[in-house]
Parts: sequence; C-alpha cells; structure tokens
Amino acid sequence: MPTRNLGNTPLSWLQRLRPYRFTGESRPCALCDGLERTVVGTRDRYLMPLRNVLCRGCGLVFLDPMPTEADIERYYRDEYRQHYHGDSRPRAKSLLRDERGARERVALLAPLLRKGDRVLDIGSGTGAFVAAADAAGWNATGVEPHQGYSAFAREHYQADIHATTLEQAPLTPGSFDLVTSSHVFEHLPAPQQAFALVHRLLTSDGLFHIHVPDISDPQRSPSARWHFGHVHGFTRETLSMLAWRSGFEVLPESPAVGPNLFLRRLDQPVSDWMRYPQHPETMQRFFAEHTAWRHFTSATPYRRFFARMSRFSHERRRLRKS
Ligand SMILES: [Zn+2]
Repeated sequence: MPTRNLGNTPLSWLQRLRPYRFTGESRPCALCDGLERTVVGTRDRYLMPLRNVLCRGCGLVFLDPMPTEADIERYYRDEYRQHYHGDSRPRAKSLLRDERGARERVALLAPLLRKGDRVLDIGSGTGAFVAAADAAGWNATGVEPHQGYSAFAREHYQADIHATTLEQAPLTPGSFDLVTSSHVFEHLPAPQQAFALVHRLLTSDGLFHIHVPDISDPQRSPSARWHFGHVHGFTRETLSMLAWRSGFEVLPESPAVGPNLFLRRLDQPVSDWMRYPQHPETMQRFFAEHTAWRHFTSATPYRRFFARMSRFSHERRRLRKS
C-alpha cells in the first residue's frame, strides 16, 4: 500500500515506528568473503529492529540480512514520500553547505589535476561539486539517480548530469582522469562491484577520491550510529583494504583521518591486501567500549551541540545577506 506523504509532522514520526519491511538476504562479507560475524547493533537511530554485524575476518561492518536492490529501492521511495513534498528541491541552507563542501573538495583535489582533466562525480546530488569542478577548469560530469536533484543541477548550474544509476549511465570506459564519490559507498549493498566499475571508467593511471562516514568515529553518538540506508560501515582500514583488493593504491597525499582516500588505479589488484589482521578485534573493542552511557557522560556531545548551534546561526546570517 502506498505511504501517504505526511511531511515532518508528529504523525510522520509515528509512521516511522513501523519495522522495516524487507526480506534481505544473508551475504558473505563484501571485503573478505568471510561468513563469520558478530552482532554489534540491533536497533537503528529510530529504535527500529535492525541487525548490524562485524565481519570477524576483516572488521567490515554491514547489515545482516543485507537488503536486496529491490528492498533499497522501496525504502528510498517510501522515505522520499515521508520527507519531501512532491518534486523535491534542495533547501537554501543545504545548498549553502553543499557549495562550501564542493569548494573544499576542489581545493583538496586541485594539486592532483590539470586543466581540462575529465572528472566524474558519483552521486552528484545538487550538482554543486560538478559546477565547482567546471569552474576550476576541469571537464566534469555527474551521475545522480534522484530526478529532482539532477533536474536542479542541470537548471541551476547547467551541469552535465546523467539522471540515472552508475551502472546504467552511458559512460565510456577508460575516459575519466578522476572519479569522486562523497558519502555514497556506505549506501551500496555491493561496494566491491562499484569499485570494479570505477576501475573500468578510469584512464590507466586515473585517480579515485572516495569519502565515506567513519563507523569508528568516537565523536558520533552510538544511538545515531545505525541507519537503514547505511548498509555498510567503513573505517579507514576496511576502505583501504577494499581499494587494494579492487586494484588501487592508496596515495600518501590522502587526507589524514577517516575513510577519506586518494586512490590511483593499478592494472592488477594488490595481492597482500589483508594488511590489518588485528582490525576485527580493534573494532569489537571499540563497539564494546563506546556505549551511549560513556558518550553522554563525556563532554563530546555537548561540545558538538554548541558547535552546531554556532554553525546554524552563521548560516542564517549568510542566508539573510544573500
Ligand atoms: Zn570480511
């Protein structure tokens, strides 16, 4: 039965209290193919039952059962109805944030690229990064399956966007000098397949900048850690291992913290990719020690709250001026 759009009303929050309707399937670990796992999460941030596990072979975190492509499609369709009214457009505040992030990302990548280089942004969202990359003298294209956002990117920035998934976009193999992807791979049930696609799309020594949230971030509240949309939870170690196994080297110029990596395409996978044998135990300890009680009795959430408030008021001032 279709879900009626209730917007952000108390009723919409009540509606979210239904357990997720998905069958899913139990899958081997996407990184090491392992089958042994330890449960590290049983409820998501809305207190809905949701089982997250830690692979005992490599330390990758993922949903088990893993939603199928059809489950994920249905989830986004329903969530979409709950969160947005009809044709969704980015809000002014999120656009401001996006444009700032895009400028920062361009500055980070500028030392690695030349004018005219071909750039592909996977999950290009509002198109802010594609526009900033064009302005930096690169030749940028985006892939964004969300129809409202891809239409916005084309109209607002005249950005070159394929309004479809990466698998379905008509892109030429070996044609990009750089592929970028920010906060996308944690949503993919088969990230190793997406890595293989990126590998095919790049020139022989092309670059891949990948950034995902850090599941081992001690600043984040444990109660907000689990999310139906985030089907994989990465750390710098697991993302690096996945990159090596997929035929990339990790460049020393990569930003220093978290799963935020500059990768260079190699012709072959790196054979000794299992370089963090202690990682499963380290992660197990992290989940055991980083409890909600510890988190809320530390200064971290309060410091974060005040930092966020000051950012909001700065953004409000910027929006009033524009
Ligand atoms: Zn594994």
